[in-house]
Amino acid sequence: MTKLSANDRVASYDPELRAIRHDLHRHPELAFEETRTSETVARELARLGYQVTRDIAGTGLVGTLRQGTGRRAIGLRADMDALPVSEATGLSYQSQAPGKMHACGHDGHTTTLLGAARYLAETRQFDGTVHLIFQPAEENIGGAQRMIEEGLFKRFPCDAVFAFHNWPGLPAGQVAIRPGTIMAAVDMAKAVISGPGGHGAIPHETVDPVVAGAAVVTALQTIVSRNIDPVEAAVVTVGAFNAGIACNIIPERAVLEISVRSCSAKVRRQLAERVPVIIKGVAEAHGCAAKVDYEFGYPATVNTLEEAAFARAVASDLKGPHPVIDLLAPTMISEDFAYMLEAVPGCYFMLGNGVGRHGKMLHSPDYDFNDELLVIGAALWGRMVERFLPIA
Ligand SMILES: [Zn+2]
Ligand SMILES: [Zn+2]
Repeated sequence: MTKLSANDRVASYDPELRAIRHDLHRHPELAFEETRTSETVARELARLGYQVTRDIAGTGLVGTLRQGTGRRAIGLRADMDALPVSEATGLSYQSQAPGKMHACGHDGHTTTLLGAARYLAETRQFDGTVHLIFQPAEENIGGAQRMIEEGLFKRFPCDAVFAFHNWPGLPAGQVAIRPGTIMAAVDMAKAVISGPGGHGAIPHETVDPVVAGAAVVTALQTIVSRNIDPVEAAVVTVGAFNAGIACNIIPERAVLEISVRSCSAKVRRQLAERVPVIIKGVAEAHGCAAKVDYEFGYPATVNTLEEAAFARAVASDLKGPHPVIDLLAPTMISEDFAYMLEAVPGCYFMLGNGVGRHGKMLHSPDYDFNDELLVIGAALWGRMVERFLPIA
């Protein structure tokens, strides 16, 4: 029997992985509704000899493979949910579910991890425990957080966790990575500024929530410029300002909707303190009352230094088609793998999806996951496990 090299072995999975990915792509399921997808993953993992634990955060599941006597454990995570987007790719395997589409490539992430699952089960060149984490509901509603609340890392302790996102516009297979923060936290504030209302010709006998709101918008910008350390990243965007119905009526209220982004816990706390203080203080100075609802969204995605260096080294040694890129700054968008990185050391990175037709933006109706990534990603995961859990 000829012994295949790792890369040749994974490359031989290509037709099978494409078939799995295209099947998932035909049947996209929205957040927390990934029952068919979960079933497919569970069946595949069981066939490969994994111990499968289901029903974590509803459709979430973990496949566990142990080898040797090593006590260390690694977690690799893929997301499974699709989006409420109507597909317009015209691909032979395009979505058969009206209004739903794998427009973020989570079908590709899931299949890549199944490719790694097969490689690890067939070769078993590691010493320790591998937990393959398939999570529901990455888009907006925090499936990762719910898995953790349901005991993910207590039931499946991991010394480190890793995940990637395909990245349109980056050459296919190129890894882009960054120690520390790679994506931002996003929080939301809603402010209702109110007064008694009145006639547009008699402003001195009432108070004006529009003028107060306008002052609030301007004053909020002083948080980033005057309160936050200038070398830190923060964004305060008043994305909606609604008030009034006619030019000669002073309305009773102005409603502001604000998104607040940051890259560190310290700045996030500062923003959460300062935003309500400014809104209430400025409104009060104008004689208005203000009510502020402040809601925390996803935290920042922060890679631990050692694990980022480790992931970078593995990706570099694999000698893919393009050298690893070191990102100089985080992106200010967000990702719920952040919750896993709050619980366990680890690293999140981008894997280039390619350019041209594979450069179409995530979440767009013509987005197209690049099938070349299935074997590239599976080989990367396989190598990462072998290096993280070396045989003594
Ligand atoms: Zn997405
Ligand atoms: Zn995504």
